[in-house]
Amino acid sequence: MTAVAGTRDGSDVPQEQSADGSTDQRRELAKANHVLVDQGILDGFGHVSVRSDEDPTTFLLARNLAPGLVQPQDVQVLTLDGDTDDPRKPYLERHIHAQIYRARPDVRAVVHSHSPAVIPFGVSSVPLRPILHMAGFLAPRVPVFEARDTMGAGSDLLVSSAESGVALAEALGDAAVVLMRGHGSTTVGGSLPEVVYRAIYTEVNARVQVEAERLGACTYLTDEEAAATVATNTPQIGRAWQYWQDRAV
Ligand SMILES: [Zn+2]
Repeated sequence: MTAVAGTRDGSDVPQEQSADGSTDQRRELAKANHVLVDQGILDGFGHVSVRSDEDPTTFLLARNLAPGLVQPQDVQVLTLDGDTDDPRKPYLERHIHAQIYRARPDVRAVVHSHSPAVIPFGVSSVPLRPILHMAGFLAPRVPVFEARDTMGAGSDLLVSSAESGVALAEALGDAAVVLMRGHGSTTVGGSLPEVVYRAIYTEVNARVQVEAERLGACTYLTDEEAAATVATNTPQIGRAWQYWQDRAV
């Protein structure tokens, strides 16, 4: 291995490049794909990206490929316009990632998924709210993106243009998760482990909330409780990340 330019997580640890050209970030991104498939968040569709450590005006995202098949060499570098020099076909919905990175300098990683338990909260009047302590990041609110507002009444609901990406980023605002009506959700975080954690527990929270609501009126985390759980849980994410990587193929 030889050291190449760039650092990870703002540290002075240089990125390592192996003989096949893959870097630590590319390998970690490939692993994040596999973890999200193993955890039932991604299937043949959806994607995860990370902002480049070497150039924060670019981000890394796999080429147009099922997440379970992604390897480090499948990772492309894209600009905040969603463009790439890589001749291989990119994802149609790369604009989700590009426009969120443009709008949110604090965001270092993005997951877009169609995980099913979340869908009802994007199509009904019931808001997704933090009901368990592992999902405090859902507070204070989870906004819903309505595709018709920018894409008209007959769209395919996909965020496949810069214009719709801008609208999605505006709907997200400063939240951690935005629901996409009739489509799925997009989750953001400060690192790949954090965004994977959030995507997993957004789906868990949705399942638990539906079950709890069937029993009657529910008690949700207050904003203060939610903030306290985030402060406690965030430093613990590495433990789960290690386990999730180990069990993923
Ligand atoms: Zn999608």
